Amino acid sequence: MHAPYQIQGLDTLTIAQQFGLPLYLYDADRIIRQIDTFRSSFTGVNLKIKYAAKSLTNLSILKLMRTQGVDVDVVSVNEARLAMLAGYTPQQIMYTPSGNAWSEIQEAISLGLRLNVDSLPLLEQVGQNYGASVPVCLRINPSVADGGNFKIQTGHANSKFGIPNDYRDRIAAVVAQYDMVVIGLHIHTGSDFKDAGTFLKGASVLFDMAADYPDLQFIDFGSGFKVAYREGDIVTDLADLGTRVSAAFQAFCQRYGRELELWFEPGKYLVSEAGHLLTQVNIVKQHPTRRFVQVDSGLNHLIRPMMYDAWHDIVNVSNPDGEPTLYDVVGYICETDTFATDRLLPEVRTGDVLSFENAGAYGFSMASTYNLRERPAEVMVYEGQAHLIRQRDTFEDLTRGMVDIDVFTTVETI
Ligand SMILES: *Cc1c(COP(=O)(O)O)cnc(C)c1O
Repeated sequence: MHAPYQIQGLDTLTIAQQFGLPLYLYDADRIIRQIDTFRSSFTGVNLKIKYAAKSLTNLSILKLMRTQGVDVDVVSVNEARLAMLAGYTPQQIMYTPSGNAWSEIQEAISLGLRLNVDSLPLLEQVGQNYGASVPVCLRINPSVADGGNFKIQTGHANSKFGIPNDYRDRIAAVVAQYDMVVIGLHIHTGSDFKDAGTFLKGASVLFDMAADYPDLQFIDFGSGFKVAYREGDIVTDLADLGTRVSAAFQAFCQRYGRELELWFEPGKYLVSEAGHLLTQVNIVKQHPTRRFVQVDSGLNHLIRPMMYDAWHDIVNVSNPDGEPTLYDVVGYICETDTFATDRLLPEVRTGDVLSFENAGAYGFSMASTYNLRERPAEVMVYEGQAHLIRQRDTFEDLTRGMVDIDVFTTVETI
């Protein structure tokens, strides 16, 4: 007999009944534990964690982060506005645009966010318009690649992100021309970082460049920490990385002549494992060669399997002791939306509740209303209590903004 599937002692089936399905369920304890593990991996450095809000963009999640002393990294002004609603001051928010409109950059500046500059033309524009009055951080592309799906690598030479480190002299020239103040240097090498060695190679690019800028306050190493999606996955060895980066950073601060802050921007690492997408089985059907399970969800709610070939463990919550059977688990979208192929699960019956694991990061935040389907509700378990933190969409939500232009003449048909 398997124990009932619980979160902080609460039965997930009871939560499913209470809030309805499909449902995104988050365990706040798990998020707090990840923050603590992250912090304790680094020693002897002035560490600041900036949660990447795009991974799970919810007001209550941001409030939880704030109570844990975690700041925020945002990629749009709207994310910044949400962070401010959650109580963050503009200075606690790092704004990292990537080809955003000039009007939005100006808005970010007028809100007082910290600005991370991602291209030479933007650096010019900020310099021309604001000069020394807007301190900037520079996002550098170190031309280092690591493992993982190519779509989520951002630090290699052909990636669109950052200013190539080959342009070191050109960057310094623009900064000098407009008398700009550089307070930070940043790299974000993309998701799925596993190797401390590659990481330190990127770090040393920033350490070298730091010599050009005497006013630095921080070095921002971005993110890309790998979590295990399936048993046996290679994960970032955070203890090892923390020890080696801490030592390298201390040595760098010595050379630089001053202690700087060491920043990271984890998204996935903090929230992925805390999230579960709970769904209900609509149909189980047998084809000559395949056995399909269709759930009341699809790539509209969790696009990672189709977009990144991501693996998500699946738990049969309502029939954990069923006979192990092979299934293709698919969605209800009119489009191929396979969650899993040839997956061994305890026998699945119509009405069973299946949980997709590791769904906290880039799950709800990438959800859409494709097929005019509601996005799920979101619930967070905090201190043993389940709280609704976002309502399920309604039909009115889905059609809000559509404009009924009453100008058409009906064609007579014969
Ligand atoms: C997406 C992003 C992150 C977070 O990446 P994870 O892999 O989720 O940790 C951090 N920094 C920047 C600039 C990002 O765009």
